[in-house]
Amino acid sequence: MQNFLKQRLEQRQQAHLYRQRLIHEGAQTPVLQMAGRTYLAFCSNDYLGLASHPILINTLQHAATTYAVGAGASHLVNGHARAHHALEEELASFTGRERALLFSTGYMANIGAVTALVERQDAVFSDKLNHASLVDAVQLSRAHSHRYTHNDMEMLARLLTQSTANHKLIVTDGVFSMDGDIANLPDIVTLAKQQQAWVMVDDAHGLGVLGATGRGIIEHYHLSATDVPILMGTLGKAFGVTGAFVAGSTLLIENLIQYARSYIYTTALPAAIAETLRASLRLVQTETWRREKLQILIKHFRQGATQLALPLLVSDTPIQGILLGSAEKALMLSQALLQQGIIVTAIRPPTVPQNTARLRITFSALHEIEHVDRLLGALEHYSL
Ligand SMILES: *Cc1c(COP(=O)(O)O)cnc(C)c1O
Repeated sequence: MQNFLKQRLEQRQQAHLYRQRLIHEGAQTPVLQMAGRTYLAFCSNDYLGLASHPILINTLQHAATTYAVGAGASHLVNGHARAHHALEEELASFTGRERALLFSTGYMANIGAVTALVERQDAVFSDKLNHASLVDAVQLSRAHSHRYTHNDMEMLARLLTQSTANHKLIVTDGVFSMDGDIANLPDIVTLAKQQQAWVMVDDAHGLGVLGATGRGIIEHYHLSATDVPILMGTLGKAFGVTGAFVAGSTLLIENLIQYARSYIYTTALPAAIAETLRASLRLVQTETWRREKLQILIKHFRQGATQLALPLLVSDTPIQGILLGSAEKALMLSQALLQQGIIVTAIRPPTVPQNTARLRITFSALHEIEHVDRLLGALEHYSL
């Protein structure tokens, strides 16, 4: 076994695909401390900068006193506290749906929702760039898997028409996590209506960020809960904490409580975390300057990057990709930036398709224009 393990690691290393973790000290903010040095980071998903919000830190401290630390059990045993329940009601109201159900992580919400809804005789239609958790969810469900080219509505229409499956479920990321562009949701909704298919959107990167009040891709496109009956959102990104939820009709949520195994067979999130998330949900709605600030940073970056003729991917979201192609090139650039005190992750296969390695730059409401200028200044030195 040792030989096998060693060989596989060597393969990864030779292909420039080996992954390593950076260790930072202290709070999660755009300015990070590592090994006694200060770095400027452009890679967290803490888009609104709420992870370090004093109100949330304070809420968590107090809630730990009220609720203790661990939930002690799963939601269906005796782990479901008042704070969890109140958060679910508030998330339902925020997303304009009858009910919402909390999961421990987004990965588990996707696994739970998809496997609870479809089985062998059914078919799932997924965008090829969907998040890994959706890919795994479809596999685990045993439903037929049809993957369409990124945002290719003609291909989706063709696959839907050809399918003789019992139930048809279309699943898509709202904002694509490695590209930053968004799903063509209005067309997906139209196709779904024509083909009697169900629609599920994973709005991990849209919730809190897109739409005037942060309600995500549904608000961005002015769609309704009937258009997209299954909405999944995560709480560890723009919400700055951890966890996830699925929102929808009472019937949907009651089904998930009965059948979603990743909901049933796991310990509930700590209630103190749920209480912190309630405060976070209020901040997402009231501190609108955070979304406005993001837009300013994104515009400033795209203008500067265009002037430098950087190979930018098309995106209006805080996820901005610089397409480099080879994993080696992406890794070298990421390491060069690190030496200059800037952290930007090189995203390589299998996270993205072959020959599309890239730098994935993300912005947070806590970044300043000077930070963006520093990043642009550092990128200027390389001919990409
Ligand atoms: C991050 C992410 C997830 C997983 O959410 P976690 O709460 O981190 O497990 C699911 N879907 C998408 C699109 C994501 O970006």
